[in-house]
Amino acid sequence: MTLPTLAEDAKRLCQSLLRIDTTNPPGNERAAAELIAASLAEVGYRPELLEGEPNRTNLVVRHKGTGARPPLLVTAHLDVVEADPTKWRKPPFSGEEFEGCLWGRGAIDMKNMAAMCTAIMRRLAATNARLDRDVIFAAVADEEAGCDLGSRFLVEQHRSKVEAEYAIGESGGFSLHLGDTTFYPIQVAEKGFCWVRARITGEPGHGSMPRRDSVVTKLGEALAKLGSTPLPVHPTSYVADFLDVLRSRQPGVIQPLVKLLARPHLLARVARLVPGASIARSFSALLSNTAAATVVRAGAKTNVIPGLAEFEIDGRTLPGQTDDDLLRELRAVLGEGVELEIIKSAPPIVTEPVASPLFETIQRRIIEREPDAVVLPYLIPGFTDAKYFTQMGARWYGFSPVKIDKTSGIKFADMFHGHNERVPVAGLAWGVELLNDVVSDICGAQIATRSAQAARARNA
Ligand SMILES: [Zn+2]
Repeated sequence: MTLPTLAEDAKRLCQSLLRIDTTNPPGNERAAAELIAASLAEVGYRPELLEGEPNRTNLVVRHKGTGARPPLLVTAHLDVVEADPTKWRKPPFSGEEFEGCLWGRGAIDMKNMAAMCTAIMRRLAATNARLDRDVIFAAVADEEAGCDLGSRFLVEQHRSKVEAEYAIGESGGFSLHLGDTTFYPIQVAEKGFCWVRARITGEPGHGSMPRRDSVVTKLGEALAKLGSTPLPVHPTSYVADFLDVLRSRQPGVIQPLVKLLARPHLLARVARLVPGASIARSFSALLSNTAAATVVRAGAKTNVIPGLAEFEIDGRTLPGQTDDDLLRELRAVLGEGVELEIIKSAPPIVTEPVASPLFETIQRRIIEREPDAVVLPYLIPGFTDAKYFTQMGARWYGFSPVKIDKTSGIKFADMFHGHNERVPVAGLAWGVELLNDVVSDICGAQIATRSAQAARARNA
């Protein structure tokens, strides 16, 4: 069959996916997985739908290569976070095209990637592409709630179906404009998470006779300390490299900021000074382990002083740090009398060394399009499906490319889980072409390059 162009195909698929509500919880990814499955079946694939629970559907499909090299995995999650329609200019599940963008929850996180991968897989089949690796596409459920029924389920229950040397997924490959420079960050590391329950116990009592040692008062004090005390700074190469590039490329305004950022004790002040507060916050999160109190529980009756107060801490650990390191830092802040217990945790992950034929291919294909851009490996404060897909040995590169024009007023980072999430149609087209070039290079052109090198070596 004749396919539309990659760009048209990706746009159509993205729009259709945006119209399916996969808010997690509850997820209900099945309809989105079935839509992708139908598009793949059209060109001859027989995709598999795999579920850890009813309607929590993952899709896996494979384009067979010669097997000369191990497979490449491309992946996107199908679930999205909730959206409050009253805060949006276009309904969040409309997929409407407006002001040059497709609007909808998931437009950049990350139904755009699911659409791009599907379009590329369709192209591979329709052109009967001969590659030296299998290309596996996994569209997964449940990333936004911790990956248990998605990437984790696939890696633990269906490992052979997704095993790969390289994995391309969330997040990176979008245009980040700082000063006069456009950066393309590529995720190669992500922080771990360590969710902690903090418990304070004490004497209960009658509400008519307040006590200074009430657990509720202590709870308030603990929360205030946690919220106002920065955890110690632990420098990593990712942040240092980013700051070095910034320092060399950014004139004027950015220079003092960069200097301040490199001096951790001034960070709190920086956060207030920086014009882009969200950028300062992201940087801060990359310099230390972090701990945010999120859930608070104490008491049930107005006239009873309770004997137990609890809060939950969303802790995040830097590469090189462990759960125990974080607990030690928390104890130093909270002091005696607050009992800490880990609820759930997963370690940080890193792709090391960063350099690889895939990273170089990504870099080359971006620079070919934008010679002045800077392609940088980076660390993200959150977590992605990389947590689980790297457990089977895949080298992870967060690369779901979208071009954002500087003049568009769209700040990519604000689109993640924000109101009015949207993807520029032109940026999506740019992304799918770029991703397609990268996939073709790493799965095919490699042989040519290597045999050319071998020939040169023989002639030397
Ligand atoms: Zn995401």
